[in-house]
Amino acid sequence: MDSREIEGDLTEVLVTEQQIRDKLAELARRIEADYEGERLLLVGVLKGAVMVMADLARELRSHVTMDWMAVSSYGAGTQSSGVVKILKDLDTDLSGRHVLIVEDIIDSGLTLSWLLGNLASRGAASIEICALLRKPDAAKVEIDVKYLGFDIPNQFVVGYGLDYAETYRNLRDVAILAPHVYS
Ligand code: 5GP
Ligand code: MG
Ligand code: MG
Repeated sequence: MDSREIEGDLTEVLVTEQQIRDKLAELARRIEADYEGERLLLVGVLKGAVMVMADLARELRSHVTMDWMAVSSYGAGTQSSGVVKILKDLDTDLSGRHVLIVEDIIDSGLTLSWLLGNLASRGAASIEICALLRKPDAAKVEIDVKYLGFDIPNQFVVGYGLDYAETYRNLRDVAILAPHVYS
């Protein structure tokens, strides 16, 4: 779905499909260099990270494995509850593995901070984070993101995997959702 087709639902396109593609290529080159000779495990956080995972993984020129977790955070609204629950756990044993968590967006950071603690207790050799987007002004906890795509303003965005009430995930760009859609 293209931004132009749903112009009325959006306030502004923040990151275009092409900008995302270029950035993921840049991050992939760094990741390849940093994990040379290792078989990396990419852990995607459902459902928002599906697009980042698909495009980042295909951009990488080295073997990787992929696994998925689903955790609850926002429900259908736009506010972080701070309460995290595992809805689907990993199938992979993390002991001795080099893990790269793949995330769509870091808002308050509460979800990732909880996830880091949870994964760290499973014996991984290393755990790092790759996130396409971050809202620095919304941070409630500091998260060390090794591979970051873009810092964006503290506004509710949709597209490229990010939803509002399960809609807009298939939008190709990342855009600010017009307030009339959710108010
Ligand atoms: P955090 O715990 O960092 O506040 O946010 C966790 C999750 O909330 C993100 O992984 C994402 O799924 C969702 N989220 C945070 N900000 C936004 C946003 O601006 N738009 C959408 N669609 N989801 C968001
Ligand atoms: Mg997410
Ligand atoms: Mg959501």
